[in-house]
Amino acid sequence: MADPLEFDRRHLWHPYSSMVAPQTALLIERASGCRLYLPDGKSLIDGTASWWAALHGYNHPELNRALTEQAAQFAHVMFGGLTHQPAIDLGTRLLEIVPAGLDTIFYSDSGSVAVEVGIKMALQYWQGQGRPHKNRLMTLRGGYHGDTFATMALADPETGMHRRFGDMLPRPIYLDAPPAGFARPLPAAYRKHLQQVFAAHADHTAALVLEPIVQNAGGMRIYSPQILREVRRLCDAHQVLLLADEIATGFGRTGQWFACNHAEIAPDILCIGKSLTAGYLSFAATLTTHQIATGIAGADAAPLMHGPTYMGNALAARLATKNIELLQNGDWQKQVAQIESSFRTALEPLRTHPNVRDVRTLGALGAVEVDRPVNLDRIRPLLLEQGIWLRPFRNLIYSMPPYTIPPDELAKICTGIKKIIATDSY
Ligand code: PMP
Repeated sequence: MADPLEFDRRHLWHPYSSMVAPQTALLIERASGCRLYLPDGKSLIDGTASWWAALHGYNHPELNRALTEQAAQFAHVMFGGLTHQPAIDLGTRLLEIVPAGLDTIFYSDSGSVAVEVGIKMALQYWQGQGRPHKNRLMTLRGGYHGDTFATMALADPETGMHRRFGDMLPRPIYLDAPPAGFARPLPAAYRKHLQQVFAAHADHTAALVLEPIVQNAGGMRIYSPQILREVRRLCDAHQVLLLADEIATGFGRTGQWFACNHAEIAPDILCIGKSLTAGYLSFAATLTTHQIATGIAGADAAPLMHGPTYMGNALAARLATKNIELLQNGDWQKQVAQIESSFRTALEPLRTHPNVRDVRTLGALGAVEVDRPVNLDRIRPLLLEQGIWLRPFRNLIYSMPPYTIPPDELAKICTGIKKIIATDSY
């Protein structure tokens, strides 16, 4: 039989990869708990929860059961004109946990699409209000909201996708990246900057789109709840909708159910995805208030113009409901607090290392910013030798593990991060 990895290299595109210089991917045969198993029987402890989604680890018996039970009934039916109990059950659960007031749900198939739907909601809301000129978006520099065109347009102009697609992307109104530091009080100069931009642009702005508290794929930057409270206040004062993209931060990752809870605010539009199905299937949702949902319709009862083929997928909805049940009945707050404290203890001392620029920890997220971009091919042997799986990007070596990671496995992840830095060969 032909070498499967050779087929993979020649024919399969991987995320953000070049077919001229493909990296060799690792072949995973099975996964269980927090471990990924290679064909030779060796295993790697997963420090990434498969891009921050697999909250309960892999091959979870209860999630597996939810999936197979639903498959035996039906996997999917169109959501146009039909509905089903898994979608209704998930909606009921979501309303128990999301910030108050968000009570209208649009199911879609990925995080990027959830943000696109949120953008449509905001634009159509102002159309419904007879103010169609409020049709621009505001965002924080340093953010990331997805890979589709409207979401790429929100990425950071220097480090994001604008470099490739330049003029094809509508320019948002940028607010400077928030000053870093969870516990840092809102600097007066930044408050003034926010006020100035709102005063100049609110008239033609539909919504401010941001990742609350942690800017993830844009650079793992953590900022203060005071800043989030201030932008909520400005959005209210200037009639700009606040769209919170909690695709990475939702479901406990920062130590609260949602990062907005740190600031005790509710957004007008909330996007969730990734860990919604605990790493099993691509699924997402955009939630808004009844007032906005009905305001979108306006006088002529206009429909919200979105309707993906796999909207409301029953397998995914059933998994998501089980995921929320596992969280509600489990000990995630304690698990996340323990991971936070382990990251602090293990990673904070790296601050003094000459190769380290910064160390950032919050909830089940630990990131070390180093002095230069990390070369994935160069660190691979070290990861395999340590028996761990990490996927640094740019100059950020980080871990966002499953909440269920045992202390000894988390310790190995932290040791691995330290070794990568110590070898100086990244
Ligand atoms: N928003 C945020 C904050 C994200 O972190 C991501 C994915 N990294 C997305 C949107 C896009 O989600 P997806 O990859 O499911 O399209």
